Amino acid sequence: MNYLKSLKQFFPFLYILFCTGLELAIAQKKQIPDPEETEVWDPEPSTVSFDENNVPSDAIILFDGTDLSKWQSAKGDGSPAFWTINDDRSMTVSPGNGGIETIEEHGSIQLHLEWKSPQVVKGEGQGRGNSGVFFQRRYEVQILDSYNNRTYSNGQAASIYKQYIPLVNATKSPEEWQVYDIIFIQPIFDSEGYLETNGRITVFHNGVLVQDNIQLLGTTEYIGSPKTGRDQMPGDGSETRLDRKLYLQDHGDLVSFRNIWIRKL
Ligand code: MG
Repeated sequence: MNYLKSLKQFFPFLYILFCTGLELAIAQKKQIPDPEETEVWDPEPSTVSFDENNVPSDAIILFDGTDLSKWQSAKGDGSPAFWTINDDRSMTVSPGNGGIETIEEHGSIQLHLEWKSPQVVKGEGQGRGNSGVFFQRRYEVQILDSYNNRTYSNGQAASIYKQYIPLVNATKSPEEWQVYDIIFIQPIFDSEGYLETNGRITVFHNGVLVQDNIQLLGTTEYIGSPKTGRDQMPGDGSETRLDRKLYLQDHGDLVSFRNIWIRKL
């Protein structure tokens, strides 16, 4: 206190400066909120672990290379999936035998899927390594050998077929496996079957964002506009199946698949 007294007596200007600084520091300290006020501890996210293939423990494995027990022919007659299982734990389209679909239906999901273009590069445009993954049998994310292969932009690999062009072409060569990580948010229909909320899709192709939470316009049609009416039936309207299965397309090309899993959202 004697120091302060001496300061006040001999250096009044310094004394005022000291006091002002002290008051400011006290006021500032009072204003700093407690960081704990904004901490939230509940709920605690459940823990996910990973197996040797990096599949998260809460995933539903649809294909790990051993069998096609989660799949059936998409012909609708309950016949088994005819695609070929290979020694390297992959499977390949059996051209002419038709697409395959999951036995179970799905809602909003995260999908991981790896695919590879045919090793013999032939055909041009849509005729080179064409397949596709269809969510709920209605909405196609295109699979195509788009490596040095120009076609219409809204029909190349990772397009939402004839609706959205991918942000970039991230296709690797047919020598390499390609990875799709897709978030599919299903559309919502009212009790009469009419659309209430559009579906949405986000796609990472080989880790690169290529579809950024796009809003589905309806079914992805080869001919004509997306179907937006009652329940968004695909095709020409003669289709009567209303199920919502994950579907892989047979477009006549030897496209291969491996390591397919989903997580329900
Ligand atoms: Mg296709």
